[in-house]
Amino acid sequence: TRDVNDLYVWNKNIEKVPNGLYAENWCVMPQLGTRRYLAIDAGPIYDETGHLISVVETLRDITLQKEAQSALQDLASKDGLTGIANRRCFDETLEAEWHRAIRKSHPLTLLMVDVDHFKDYNDRYGHQAGDACLKRIAAAMANTPLRAYDLVARYGGEEFAVILPEVTFEGAQAVAERIRAVIAQLGILDSASTGGVVTISIGAATVNAVSAETGSNKSSQLVAAADAALYQAKHAGRNRVIAVQVDAATCQQILVSVDPNS
Ligand code: GH3
Ligand code: MG
Ligand code: MG
Repeated sequence: TRDVNDLYVWNKNIEKVPNGLYAENWCVMPQLGTRRYLAIDAGPIYDETGHLISVVETLRDITLQKEAQSALQDLASKDGLTGIANRRCFDETLEAEWHRAIRKSHPLTLLMVDVDHFKDYNDRYGHQAGDACLKRIAAAMANTPLRAYDLVARYGGEEFAVILPEVTFEGAQAVAERIRAVIAQLGILDSASTGGVVTISIGAATVNAVSAETGSNKSSQLVAAADAALYQAKHAGRNRVIAVQVDAATCQQILVSVDPNS
C-alpha cells in the first residue's frame, strides 16, 4: 500500500552509462525497519534487428561501503572532541569562499571566537569539565540559526571560527553579537568570571566587494584581521565583539565597530 516514492529518497541522480542506466540511493525497508544503500544497474538487451527484448537489472546492497565512506569523510573533516568542522575543513572552506567572493564581488566575513579565561576554568574545574564546556559551546554555536553556506569550525584549542559568505560589516556585528549572547545564556557556571558564567570574545573581519584586482591577497589576511579584532576585544575587557571592515586591496582596517561597553 505504500507508494514506491515513499521508499526511495530520490535525488534524481540516475546516470546514463554506456549500455544502460545506473542509480544509487538510500532505500527504506519497512519490514526490516531499516534502510539500505542500493546500487541499481539496468542494461538493455536488443535483438539483431535492434529491438529491445529485455532489460537485465542488478541490485547491489552497498550499505557497508557507503557507511565506511561517510565515516572516512567525517574523520577527515570533523573535529574529534566537538563533532563540528575541523581546522582542515575550515582552511579549505575559507580558501574556496575567498575565491568565490573575489569572483562574485561579494563581501565575506570571518569571526574568530575565543573562550575567555579558559586556562583558569581548566585549572579550577579540571580538564574533563573543560572538554565538556568546549562541547557545549561548539554545539550551541553550530545550532545558532545561520545560513546554508555558513561554517562553524573548531580552529584549535578553545578557539572557534565562523565563515559567513556574503555577510556585510553590519551583518557581521549582528551575527557575532547573537553568538556571544547565546554562549553567555548557556549559563555554564564559572565562579571566577565577572558574570559567574563562561563567556567568549569575538573578533569579526569583513572584506566588502572584494574586486578582481585584489585576487592576489590571501584569505590568511582575513584571519589576521579577525585575530587582531579578537585581541582588541580581549583587551577591552572580554565577553564582547569587535568588528572591523578591511580594505580589499590592502587588508588594512577601514571601519571599526564601537565597543558598546566603553
Ligand atoms: P583569554 O581570555 O585571554 O583567552 O585567556 P585563556 O586562559 O582562555 O587563554 P590561554 O590561551 O592562555 O589558554 C587557553 C587554554 O585553553 C589553555 C588550555 O589548557 C585550554 N585548552 C585548549 N584546548 C583545550 C581542550 O581541548 N580541552 C581543554 N579542556 N582545554 C583546552
Ligand atoms: Mg586562545
Ligand atoms: Mg581563551
